[in-house]
Amino acid sequence: MENVIYMDHAATTPTDPEVLKAMEPWFDVQYGNPATLYSLGLLASQVVEESRSAVADVLGADPAEIYFTSGGTESNNWAIKGVADAHQKKGRHLITSTIEHHAILEPLEFLEKRGYEVTRVPVDGAGLVDPDAVRRAIRPDTILISIMHANNEVGTIEPIAEIGAVAREAGVLFHTDAVQSVAKIPVKVADLNVDILSLSAHKFYGPKGVGALYLAKRVRVTPLLHGGAQERRRRAGTLNVPGIVGLAKAIHKTADQMEAEAARESALRDRLWEGLRERIPHIYLNGHPTQRLPNALNFRVEGIEGEAMILCLDMNRVGVSSGSACTTGSLEPSHVLLAMGIAAEHAHGSIRMTLGRANTQEDIDYVIDTFPGIVARLREMSPVYNK
Ligand SMILES: *Cc1c(COP(=O)(O)O)cnc(C)c1O
Repeated sequence: MENVIYMDHAATTPTDPEVLKAMEPWFDVQYGNPATLYSLGLLASQVVEESRSAVADVLGADPAEIYFTSGGTESNNWAIKGVADAHQKKGRHLITSTIEHHAILEPLEFLEKRGYEVTRVPVDGAGLVDPDAVRRAIRPDTILISIMHANNEVGTIEPIAEIGAVAREAGVLFHTDAVQSVAKIPVKVADLNVDILSLSAHKFYGPKGVGALYLAKRVRVTPLLHGGAQERRRRAGTLNVPGIVGLAKAIHKTADQMEAEAARESALRDRLWEGLRERIPHIYLNGHPTQRLPNALNFRVEGIEGEAMILCLDMNRVGVSSGSACTTGSLEPSHVLLAMGIAAEHAHGSIRMTLGRANTQEDIDYVIDTFPGIVARLREMSPVYNK
């Protein structure tokens, strides 16, 4: 795929070549199982512990609080189901928001079918959760609050520190899905008042299929996977050593460059939005105007379908999506946009452009030059657009 302008970094990122290089020897040269006692295994176990320390360092956590998983989905499932199971004597009530990723919403629905109760706190038009609404939802039998740090569709950044303070005051455990925010904006567990946090390597230029869960020492959880004694008996299965090495390398490198890269990408993002807004009538920003991830742009285009725009942009070698990669192929409008009060037909006409390291000003200007013509042509054919 030569010359593609990739603008879907919320779906995944390319693995950094330096990360790939760091991973390589752990496949075929230093291939030992870290649970074994001879040198080859010890070498693997050492690199896993170094990687654990690197992840802990970025999050401001203790290495003993980092558990490696197969990605964001497993981390979220473990947080939700693990806490629900371990704390069911205290209660069976959980709190979340209406704009979470499916990897939070589905485990919660799974629990509801088994007798747990879930309160879904609404968001405002910008996608923000009100900490006071979370406070009001807390009951004596509440065992977990799970609110995402930054939304994957619109990029809105939630007031996690405030919600964490509410949770702490009430003595309720607090989890955040930080898959979109880690290494894009500052994520320190102490500043955010979180007890549990999910992250995934492929969202910050690491490999797919590896992630981590931060579990504060005081948190009791039931394992999701039972088997061997890996990860202090809390997550069984032979460790994905190359993946873990890649995750650690990627989180460190991306976090080191975070400030400069955020400034660069947000400037490009703003140039893109200004350029499109000047040239295309009746387009509107989705999400918070300022409290938003530096690389995220989501907007609705009146009168046309998101899918049509995606296909036309693809023919012009630009890769974007309409929202969550996970709902592509379904005809349902985005639950996030609906929860923000956006009408279904406008949600269908929304598009997400999420920038990354490789995007240049030339890319942005190419999209600014190309996209207005696409919109004009699609609107000419549109039965509903008559402005
Ligand atoms: C991508 C994503 C996930 C899922 O992570 P995987 O590693 O792909 O399983 C969960 N939550 C959010 C917010 C995401 O963006």
